[in-house]
Amino acid sequence: MRILVTGGAGFLGSHLTDALLDRGDDVVVLDDMSTGSPDNLTPPRRGLTIVDADVRAPLLLDGPFDAIAHLASPASPPDYLRRPVFTLTTGSLGTQQVLEFAARKKARVVLASTSEVYGDPEVHPQTENYWGNVNSVGPRAVYDEAKRYAEALTTAFGDSRGVDTGIVRIFNTYGPRLRPEDGRVVSNFIAQALAGRPLTVYGDGTQTRSLCYVDDLVRGLISMIDARGERGPINLGNPVEMSVRAIADLVLRLTGSTSRLEWRPLPIDDPVRRRPDITRAAQRLGWQPATPVATGIERTIAWQRESRPENLIRPSAVPMAS
Ligand code: UDP
Repeated sequence: MRILVTGGAGFLGSHLTDALLDRGDDVVVLDDMSTGSPDNLTPPRRGLTIVDADVRAPLLLDGPFDAIAHLASPASPPDYLRRPVFTLTTGSLGTQQVLEFAARKKARVVLASTSEVYGDPEVHPQTENYWGNVNSVGPRAVYDEAKRYAEALTTAFGDSRGVDTGIVRIFNTYGPRLRPEDGRVVSNFIAQALAGRPLTVYGDGTQTRSLCYVDDLVRGLISMIDARGERGPINLGNPVEMSVRAIADLVLRLTGSTSRLEWRPLPIDDPVRRRPDITRAAQRLGWQPATPVATGIERTIAWQRESRPENLIRPSAVPMAS
């Protein structure tokens, strides 16, 4: 197949691109490199074309496309809070450009939506039938409402323009290539632990998240790309729920760091609990995650150690009992 991956130079997009190339697909990556990086797609690979462009502009790509994975968007809270209007227009105008392009090319399009469409959920775990609890004028709305609008627009193109559309709602995902300065919980804690700095826990650390390893998530995405006619929405995530405090303790144990915890205020509208119900993904895609959290975190630690040697805690820097 020939597949367009928007946001393909980002964390998730670059892993998806690698997996598609591995199975023999040709991939065109479209990315404006605002949060992604060409480093994620280096060295160059056979079958891969990279186009540095803004997804909000008309997509001028020649030739046939079988499918489009639409991932282009800032995804880390600090990233999207820094660029609120950019985030909203990427989710709205950008998604419209992708859908018009899909209609022209007669390609299947899979929208990477998010667990953030559930906001601070009052239903737990979250099923796809739950409509969510989003504050439309809160700071996170720039991401949440952009993705909710993108879901509505995708549905409308499916209903009224005959486009083969699919929606996946992606829960917290982590792994190699999550930038150490990205700002998300796993990358922050690992970078801080490796540097011997305090781990910044927001709030009292009792809020929960469910962490999915990137390879598992990519398997789910590819199943959805291949599932022609499957519209979803389908939750993709790991139902193993952990408190943020437990994530900090796990990172400390697996890095062997002696960093302390530093308590910081909870961000506005930070969801209290989050866990996907993945019954639908299992039934319709035959998908479930396989990587234990400790294994995935170990791989992510190994990647940060390799890519950021300055973050290594040298033995002499670790306090030793005399
Ligand atoms: N968090 C934290 N310390 C950090 C970064 C995040 O305690 O340095 C918390 C954050 O408040 C949230 C959870 O970890 O409750 C997950 O945050 P993240 O930014 O990774 O993603 P979110 O699920 O909020 O989009």
